[in-house]
Amino acid sequence: MSERPRYSIVAPVYNEEGNIQILYDRIREVMDSTGEPWELVMVNDGSRDRSQELMEKLAARDYRIKVVNFARNFGHQTAVTAGIDYASGNAVILIDADLQDPPEIILEMIERWKAGYDVVYAVRQERKGESWFKLFTAKLFYRVIYRITEVDIPMDTGDFRLMDEKVVGVLRQMREHNRFIRGMTSWVGFKQTPVYYVREERHWGVTKYPFKKMVRFGLDAVTGFSYFPLQIMIYVAAILGVLALLAIPIIAILRLAMGEGFFGGQATTIVLLLLLSSFQLFFLFIMGQYVARVYDEVRNRPLYVVASTENTNGLEKRVLPTPELTEKISRPHDAATTPIQKAPADVQGE
Ligand code: UDP
Ligand code: MG
Repeated sequence: MSERPRYSIVAPVYNEEGNIQILYDRIREVMDSTGEPWELVMVNDGSRDRSQELMEKLAARDYRIKVVNFARNFGHQTAVTAGIDYASGNAVILIDADLQDPPEIILEMIERWKAGYDVVYAVRQERKGESWFKLFTAKLFYRVIYRITEVDIPMDTGDFRLMDEKVVGVLRQMREHNRFIRGMTSWVGFKQTPVYYVREERHWGVTKYPFKKMVRFGLDAVTGFSYFPLQIMIYVAAILGVLALLAIPIIAILRLAMGEGFFGGQATTIVLLLLLSSFQLFFLFIMGQYVARVYDEVRNRPLYVVASTENTNGLEKRVLPTPELTEKISRPHDAATTPIQKAPADVQGE
């Protein structure tokens, strides 16, 4: 059976053993109701529980289940990327494996897609069962991102979305390493529209986004789509400069009026020094964030390493990480110009 699926559902999986069966059941029910061919691409992002075993069992029974096993944990956004690479539908739907995104919404997305939209993104109207800290930071995060980024990234949307194959085709070419997929899809453009939904509680397990990963994710979003943090430095520098210039005559006048002792203490100097160096270090940190990401891109490592796959029918050949790498692999070194290739001959001669 190798009918091309019309819909590819992509789910990243990291230690979700308690969610896999029900995810499959709910998706199957929803997708079968469309009466059109579909596939479910599950990317196992280095899970250490029974996720892989459970997924492979499903794949053995249902050819529509594709499994991509990473060699280690590469992160949520990279897992989604691999899912997109391996998907072959006319429309690709990204969904979390923990059932926080109700699969039933997919039908609504498909309706909009058939009405001519290229990206249908789900907007969370309400979020259930998440800590006040997560709700607060998420709200703040989406508002800041919305203000400071150059492309319009809609507020309160996660990765839960449907994308037409033409958007997917562009996304596959965007091999940047620090990935913020929802921003990248907005960047692509075409006709985009929202659907609204209530984000459910996790069906099983705990969040795989501890605070550290959240911070990293936020920094990727900001540095990937905005130069604002680099640009505010000039304003802070200007304000501090003006303050310093104003302080000189003010201190001089006050000293003349109130006597030598005024403003003479070392305390002021120390406080100012601390303040200024903390500003400087903060901005150096921001610079560092951008520089580190430039370094990531320059190294141009593959985005992920696949250990094994199920039911993907040799698709892996199509998704070699970068054009350069593809070229390197398909074109062997010219023996005459490569000293390493000569060495064995020398050894043999002796
Ligand atoms: N995930 C992943 N790799 C990771 C972290 C998370 O593939 O390193 C998957 C996870 O299994 C889930 C989705 O990404 O399907 C969203 O993660 P999670 O539900 O933990 O995030 P939250 O909903 O709490 O923001
Ligand atoms: Mg979740």
